[in-house]
Amino acid sequence: AKSWKIAKLFNGVPKDEDLQLVEEDLPGLKDGEMLIEAVYLTVDPYMRVRLETNGKVGDTMMGEQISKVIESKNKDYPVGTIVRSYSGWRSRTIVSADACRRMPELGDLSLSTALGVMGMPGMTAFFGFLEICSPKEGEVVVVSGAAGAVGSLVGQIAKIKGCKVIGFAGDEEKCKWIKSLGFDCVYNYKKVNIDDALKEAAPEGVDCYFDNVGGEFTLSVLKNMKLFGRMSICGQISQYNATDKLKAELPFPMILFKQLLVQGFIVTRWYPRWAEGEKQMSQWIREGKITYKETVTEGFENMYTAFRGLFKGSNTGKAIVKC
Ligand code: NDP
Repeated sequence: AKSWKIAKLFNGVPKDEDLQLVEEDLPGLKDGEMLIEAVYLTVDPYMRVRLETNGKVGDTMMGEQISKVIESKNKDYPVGTIVRSYSGWRSRTIVSADACRRMPELGDLSLSTALGVMGMPGMTAFFGFLEICSPKEGEVVVVSGAAGAVGSLVGQIAKIKGCKVIGFAGDEEKCKWIKSLGFDCVYNYKKVNIDDALKEAAPEGVDCYFDNVGGEFTLSVLKNMKLFGRMSICGQISQYNATDKLKAELPFPMILFKQLLVQGFIVTRWYPRWAEGEKQMSQWIREGKITYKETVTEGFENMYTAFRGLFKGSNTGKAIVKC
């Protein structure tokens, strides 16, 4: 079995020497256990942050995967069963039933969607946007990281709810793609002045902001929020690799005077309701109202490259690794 282990704690942008691909021997199975082999793995921005708080040298990188049972001593999980688990960046793992999480109903969708539109990023977009922003028809919604796994879905959900959607992404191709998804205004945030773009697209201000990036970008959006606007703080990717944490003006006076509702969240708080989110997402996909994209990297040995790509914008839609 192969696994990716922490050789050095990340400091700033992840470097070659920070992770190591190692070979390990696995023991035989005990009663009740299964040997699973990864079919699809996910790389997500949170893995960078989680390490900062919880990681130590020698740990295997954490993360979710979709795998196939290839040996079994558990009659409920015969060889060939597909399971979803947080087994980390491992090609093969010995697990027991309680490590396996319920798979969503995928119908004819690819198994990889259980790590994307039908999995954690999909549920993040669904609950994190609808529950916190409470969008209403005709309102103006801004999405940062708009061509990513979560952002591309948030924009489409906002369109379904009848909002005007303004998306920001990091290159022209990504902007073209989200425009084709129905976003009303799209901008390459590397090329425009954010404040000018918002004044142009939302002259009367922004009702809802779904924040994937944080930093200076979010400070510009804050200035353009309407009175009683709502902000869902989902991610702060622009800050994850920062060594000199943002020396920006604290935004609290603006939050106060605009009486904004600003709420951070972690998607796992809605675990008990994920089936509801999965049902709605899968219906929207079938009705053609939600389109999704995956950027698939082939090979377990390329996991780290795929992960580092998240911070360079190498992915459009969900970043997936196929074994
Ligand atoms: P994405 O698919 O959006 O991938 C990351 C993207 O972020 C890149 O493709 C890149 O796109 C953009 N990016 C990278 N660096 C920067 C930067 N310095 N400034 C602005 N944009 C940058 O990832 P996800 O959709 O999986 O996650 C999006 C955000 O949501 C992340 O911040 C993540 O941590 C957060 N998240 C939070 C969850 C929660 O429960 N709160 C759950 C899941 C995700 P581009 O080319 O456009 O720059």
